[in-house]
Amino acid sequence: MKALAYSTEVPITAHAEVVVVGGGPAGIGSAIASARNGARTILVERYGFLGGMATVGLVGPFMTSWDIEGREPIIEGIFKEMVDGMVAMGAAIDPADVTGFSAFGGYHRYGHEHVTPFDPEALKFVAQEMVLEAGVELKLHALLIDSTVHDDRIVGVVVATKGGLEALRAEVVIDTTGDADVAARAGVPFEKGRPGDGLMQPVSLFFRVGNVDDDAVQGYVDSHPEDVDFRAIVRRARDEGGFSHTKDHLTLFRTPRPGEWWANVSRVHGVDGTDGADLTSAEITGRRQVLYLVQFFRKYVPGFEDCTLIDTAPQIGVRETRRIVGEYVLTAEDVLGARRFPDGIARVSFPIDIHDVKGGGGFFEGPREGPYYTIPYRSLVPLRVEQLLVAGRCVSATHEAQGSLRVMPPCFAMGQAAGTAAALSLETNVDVRNVDVQLLRRTLQDQGALV
Ligand SMILES: Cc1cc2nc3c(=O)[nH]c(=O)nc-3n(C[C@H](O)[C@H](O)[C@H](O)COP(=O)(O)OP(=O)(O)OC[C@H]3O[C@@H](n4cnc5c(N)ncnc54)[C@H](O)[C@@H]3O)c2cc1C
Repeated sequence: MKALAYSTEVPITAHAEVVVVGGGPAGIGSAIASARNGARTILVERYGFLGGMATVGLVGPFMTSWDIEGREPIIEGIFKEMVDGMVAMGAAIDPADVTGFSAFGGYHRYGHEHVTPFDPEALKFVAQEMVLEAGVELKLHALLIDSTVHDDRIVGVVVATKGGLEALRAEVVIDTTGDADVAARAGVPFEKGRPGDGLMQPVSLFFRVGNVDDDAVQGYVDSHPEDVDFRAIVRRARDEGGFSHTKDHLTLFRTPRPGEWWANVSRVHGVDGTDGADLTSAEITGRRQVLYLVQFFRKYVPGFEDCTLIDTAPQIGVRETRRIVGEYVLTAEDVLGARRFPDGIARVSFPIDIHDVKGGGGFFEGPREGPYYTIPYRSLVPLRVEQLLVAGRCVSATHEAQGSLRVMPPCFAMGQAAGTAAALSLETNVDVRNVDVQLLRRTLQDQGALV
């Protein structure tokens, strides 16, 4: 039973050329690129600030933006501008300077050179100012609840705001909600989870701790190169009956501030991040886990003896939900084979990183045949619905390939490509599906992106 037939009854409050829905890494990239390339652009975000998982999920650092061997940058453009803005404020560390990875975390495996530690508060500010400077109209506190589609063309969206429901009209809509909310409501086919049982990666409540003795942690990491990701510490604690949590290792990263660390250690299984009831129980479990984990760190992790909890993320971190089915579905073979596509619009080197959907382990394997792979434009173009593009972690990819492209630098890069494509489609008067991809690639390169 439907409570309200809202699509037909809500007032139209705006008419933009491009409406971007979702203000995370992909949405920031999309909105800035669209506006800079001349399209009247609105950016819709449900919270009161931008950043997506980087701010509301307290997720960090940005994973690597360099190739798999750590030789040169592969993601620049708007991502780099944002990082440079934060570095200038003293609120991020330039990835060029983050070498010898164990200096920034216990997580010292390949694929983690040249990560970018940053302060989420600085990102909120820098993203907001860059978006406004580009001429984007910001619409915060607006939750997408429906897509308006006529004859298989998306013509707008419906959002719920404090003042009521509003319809926004658009020539092109870009879905950067992470969950493909716009695409799903528009009738685009999608998949969820792994083949067979549809299970998705666990969700995790990020938290930050302070008062950590960085030198003591560093001393332990340097003197125990065999204890990758603190696995030996977890094993010892388990043997002593001191660790009941499911994760087999500790993902701990230094923030740009001395003595302050991000902890990506909580883990809740069996959650569908598009289901309200699942999200509610995951928040409750995640918060309980954090309290437990802080006690555990104090007892077992060298340097964390006197650590204090600074904060938990305002929202639990969701790694994967819907993935649209687009004109091309990126696969694990593409990632591991370091495949480069003629319509490649972003480079990625981060390994396939799948946190076990049931247990405490995971899969972690990077491109083998070359230093990076590319994401084809076709993975941003959904089947069935015209004038819609999708960017970020919900693009057209398999469960495995999504485990690689989901990290934040590629999401910024995909966003920049989607926003540029939307503006080019309007300028050249073709549907987004038929944008001249070589013109798109040249435009991206001219504007500082690496394709
Ligand atoms: C636990 C965890 C750990 C991770 N660790 C790292 C890491 O260390 N480094 C790294 O680089 N990446 C990491 N990632 C991956 C990364 O954070 C995300 O995959 C990435 O942020 C996805 O970017 P996005 O723009 O596609 O989506 P998101 O960052 O999720 O942004 C989506 C935005 O859309 C908004 N939105 C959603 N639905 C609606 C709606 N209906 N209406 C209006 N607005 C809406 C959201 O509020 C949000 O602002 C991690 C992710 C998780 C969950």
